[in-house]
Amino acid sequence: MPRLKALVAGAGIGGLAAAVALRRAGLDPVVFEKADETRERGAGLLLGARAVAALNVLGFSEGLGDISVPVTAGTLSSWRGAVLSEVSVPSGSRRPGADSVAVHRADLHRLLLDALGDGVLRFGAECRGFRETADGVSVELAGGGEERGDLLVGADGLRSAVRAGLHGLSGPFYRGYTAWRGVAEPGEGLVPWGTGFESWGRGARFGYVHTGRGQVYWFATRNAPEGGEDAPGHSREALLGMFRGWHEPVGALIQATPQPAVRRDDIHDRDPLRRWGAGRVTLLGDAAHPATPNLGQGAGAAIEDALALAVHLAGSGLVTAALRRYEGERSGPTARVVRLSRYAGVAGQLESPLLRRLRDGVVRAAPPAVKRWQLLLLLGYLPRGAYNYPRKPYPEAR
Ligand SMILES: Cc1cc2nc3c(=O)[nH]c(=O)nc-3n(C[C@H](O)[C@H](O)[C@H](O)COP(=O)(O)OP(=O)(O)OC[C@H]3O[C@@H](n4cnc5c(N)ncnc54)[C@H](O)[C@@H]3O)c2cc1C
Repeated sequence: MPRLKALVAGAGIGGLAAAVALRRAGLDPVVFEKADETRERGAGLLLGARAVAALNVLGFSEGLGDISVPVTAGTLSSWRGAVLSEVSVPSGSRRPGADSVAVHRADLHRLLLDALGDGVLRFGAECRGFRETADGVSVELAGGGEERGDLLVGADGLRSAVRAGLHGLSGPFYRGYTAWRGVAEPGEGLVPWGTGFESWGRGARFGYVHTGRGQVYWFATRNAPEGGEDAPGHSREALLGMFRGWHEPVGALIQATPQPAVRRDDIHDRDPLRRWGAGRVTLLGDAAHPATPNLGQGAGAAIEDALALAVHLAGSGLVTAALRRYEGERSGPTARVVRLSRYAGVAGQLESPLLRRLRDGVVRAAPPAVKRWQLLLLLGYLPRGAYNYPRKPYPEAR
């Protein structure tokens, strides 16, 4: 049987993971990326345990181990440093080699890119739309080119052109706050190894985690009108002003970050879709289910999508049926991430002193079992049984 040709729009973590997974499942992927070069830099990523398990199935356990740091504990504090909750993952919930990890985005991107092989990825190739025929689908590229394949995966992010082709143009929702991210090199001892932290202030949060090799990834959020910008080259100074008076090492981490390594993004999401794709076209990652980053699971969910897509397509004669099964499997869990993440953002970005006191009191008084459950959810350890991949034999694993 001839190999299926899979067109993948977008070379973010989702698109690259999909291309690797599809290739390992016996398909021929081609990835179209509108940027002229890889853009993943200047930020870290928390990868939930399920995403790590998916990467292990794809053969990355060693490579990921080399570039990541396990995260097995978390502390939630007030902006003054008063601890609201401090928990670690119970050993019974952990699976060797599939802990939640923190990683530098550029390292993960490189790991996936290196596994793709030559000739799979085309930079400077913007997908504008697609056209489906009885026996295939063609992607239309900016500049007039066209490429035909057996299926199309829209992994082209928050403002996906493939999604617009399927569902029409409608904007993502701005959720009322902006995020800054950076990678600091603060020297030994400033942030305890293997722990994750978040601190809550008035309409603002700050969190940080080790990504290895002496680097600490941090993120900051603040309520702000949509579309705001920092004066060019002055994000770090702006942040030092915003987070003045917060407990250490917040200020020290901002100080220890080179200005070019700070990036700012408005936070958006979209309501979950009832139906992701149609015919030979499907969606993956942020193109399908963009979530606010409060649970730190967007990239991890894209990796889980990638594996599920490949598992359903492996050895399947009927492309359209395999795509619908993939969507059926992934739409429920990803919709939950979108909704829970949105609620977590509302709670985390509260401004009212009364509501904040109430929130902090509830968090502080929560029984240890509830606190542990929250951490497990955040680190992607739930639901139980999520490690059962592959559901059916994966070609290379046979
Ligand atoms: C502040 C912040 C913190 C976050 N932290 C975490 C975290 O800790 N853990 C986690 O798992 N997730 C996190 N996320 C979410 C995560 O970044 C995203 O969910 C993830 O990057 C989505 O990957 P993707 O490949 O689906 O999309 P993207 O990363 O957006 O990639 C899409 C790619 O498609 C390309 N593209 C776009 N349009 C076209 C087109 N028309 N044709 C061709 N190419 C196109 C783009 O250039 C891009 O390379 C965070 C997000 C934010 C904003």
